[in-house]
Amino acid sequence: MSALFGPSGNSRSFYDEGHKRTVEAPEWLKKRGLDVFEYSFGRGVRLKEETAKNIGKEFSSRGLIMSVHAPFYINLASTDEVKKKNTVRYFNESITAAHWMGAKRVIFHPGSLGKDTRDRAFGRAVDFFEEIVDETKSLGYDEVHLCPETLGKINQLGNLEEVLKLCNIDREVIPAIDFGHLYARTTGGIKSKDDYKRILDEMEHSLGDERAVKFHIHFSHIEYTEHGEKKHRDFKDKGFGPDFKPLAELLVERNMEPVVISESPTMMAEDAKTMKNIYMKLKSSI
Ligand SMILES: [Zn+2]
Repeated sequence: MSALFGPSGNSRSFYDEGHKRTVEAPEWLKKRGLDVFEYSFGRGVRLKEETAKNIGKEFSSRGLIMSVHAPFYINLASTDEVKKKNTVRYFNESITAAHWMGAKRVIFHPGSLGKDTRDRAFGRAVDFFEEIVDETKSLGYDEVHLCPETLGKINQLGNLEEVLKLCNIDREVIPAIDFGHLYARTTGGIKSKDDYKRILDEMEHSLGDERAVKFHIHFSHIEYTEHGEKKHRDFKDKGFGPDFKPLAELLVERNMEPVVISESPTMMAEDAKTMKNIYMKLKSSI
C-alpha cells in the first residue's frame, strides 16, 4: 500500500485550460497521476444530491477517492446557542454530502478560543464534540469519518495534542494533521526529520491503532507571524516552509498510508504531484 496524493479544490491551471466544473476534475487529475481530491464546503454546503452523486461517480469510476472539507464556520467552543445549532447542521450537511459523493472523510476546523482561556474553550469543545459524534452517528452513514484538523493560528483550537484528544473521544475519528499549520503555530518549529518524528510518534502513542497509519495530511508551505498562520503559499514561492522531504522519508520508512492533500493557493494539483514524485522516488529506492 501507499500514500495517496491530490489537491484541495482545483488549480488555477485547470480553469486556465478552459475547465469550469469539478465534474471535469477527475479526468484532469487522473491524467496527471493523482489519486485523491478534497472538495471544499468552506463557505457552506450548497450541493444538490444529484450533482454530488454525479461528481462522486466521475471520481470513483476512475479509481480516485474523495474527501470533503466542512464549512469554516464550525466552532466547537462556541457558547452562542444559534452558532452551536449551525455547527451541528454543518456537520450533518457535510456528512450527508460526503455520503452522496462516496467520500469517506469530513475534515473540519475545531474552532477558536474567542475571549476565553484555552482550557475552558477546549473543555467545551470536547463536551460538544461528544454530542456531535452521537448526533451524527444517527444519520447512519458509518463509512464517513470525522477528521479534526490541526490549525495554524495560536488563538485557534487545534494544536496537535487537542486534535489527538478529540480523536480519542471515538475510534472512528481520524486526525487531519496539517503540517503547514503546525509549522505556523510553532512559528517555524518544524525543520528537521526529528521534528516530524516527534509529531508522528505523539500521534502513534496517543492513538495506538490503524488511524496513526492511515491518517489525513494537509501539506502546504505557509507564511506566518508571531500569531501563527498568515497565508498559504505555492511551492514555487521561495523562502517558505516546511520542507516535505523529511516527512516523505518517514512515511516511506514507517510504511504509512496517509491521504496527502495539497492546500497550495493556486497550484494545489501541481504541488500534490511534486510531493508524490518525492515520495515515489524515495519508495522505489528502498
Ligand atoms: Zn482546513
